Amino acid sequence: MLKFDVKTTDGNARTGRLEVNGRKAVTPMFMPVATRGSVRTLLSKDLKELGVEALISNMYHLLIRPGADIIQEVGGLHEFMNWDGVLFTDSGGFQMIRKGFEQDIKENKVKFKSELDGTVFELTPTDDVELQFKMDTDVAMCLDYCPPYPAERETLEASVDKTTRWAEECRKVDGDIFGISQGGIEPDLRAKSCQALVDIGFQGYALGGLSIGEPAEKMYAMFDIADEIYPQEAPRYVMGLGSPVEMLEAIERGMDIFDSAYPTRNARHGSILTHKGSLDIRKAKFKKDNGPLDPDCDCSICSEYSRAYINHLCRAEELSWMRMATLHNLHFTLSIFKESRRAIADGSFQGYKEKFQKNYG
Ligand SMILES: [Zn+2]
Repeated sequence: MLKFDVKTTDGNARTGRLEVNGRKAVTPMFMPVATRGSVRTLLSKDLKELGVEALISNMYHLLIRPGADIIQEVGGLHEFMNWDGVLFTDSGGFQMIRKGFEQDIKENKVKFKSELDGTVFELTPTDDVELQFKMDTDVAMCLDYCPPYPAERETLEASVDKTTRWAEECRKVDGDIFGISQGGIEPDLRAKSCQALVDIGFQGYALGGLSIGEPAEKMYAMFDIADEIYPQEAPRYVMGLGSPVEMLEAIERGMDIFDSAYPTRNARHGSILTHKGSLDIRKAKFKKDNGPLDPDCDCSICSEYSRAYINHLCRAEELSWMRMATLHNLHFTLSIFKESRRAIADGSFQGYKEKFQKNYG
């Protein structure tokens, strides 16, 4: 059973310790995204060296390839990926909706076709969570219904009702499961969704359907609502939030766990995160720049390679630059969490956050 202890607090921000199936992680924490069982361009050894303690994979992507049976036969996801840290899996609700699946409301089933070979899958919310555990996840996420932004109020209301019904179905499975609230940025609907999950009872509580284009301030207000309603003793997880400035705002409001493709996807597009904001390493102005990607970064790439070299590798289409950029961006993101944990423990989080945001711009 998942254990979570809040260790220190600073205002609403907190540090904590999470333990599940003998695997441990400290919070606030960032989970790199291993959608198909891999963080692109990296090995599990790289992740360990970066100090990553938890990853998140995606049930939907792994179900359509290689399939839950194969993953089980080869010993489960930890064994398959050679990952002995904490592993979360997402239910895939977000992908299923974006890819236009059909729903049979009466039978409470989600039906979708594989984009790879046209195989049709039919899942109940209970099936979804069972499949996540069959794949050997440590923490399963509920199947939720995430409407796009912007959405009409009626759509958001319906998504809260459906997400609540589905959460009740998911909870029938034994195991460590996190509920996911919806409700967009409508305060009353978000509060209703959070409360419904608390009434059902989960090991942890997430916020879904955020960071999809809504104004930042309105999103921050949803963190305040979750902080108010979600139990203090449970871990709180903001799904899909990866911008450094926004994550710090969420940490300040009592959120503990984050995941996003932001640092890794940006890296592969040449966008390098630095303490002075992001830069595009592909630009001609870096051709003769002998400095590191970020002068304030102590990662292995910044200490060993120059902007000029990485710029050259991009232009020459040498694949190694993507790995370099990914290693740096993940190190940068993880360092924000390390600094945040230190600042919370010291009681200086507000000052740390303000200084970071001022430099970052
Ligand atoms: Zn670096």
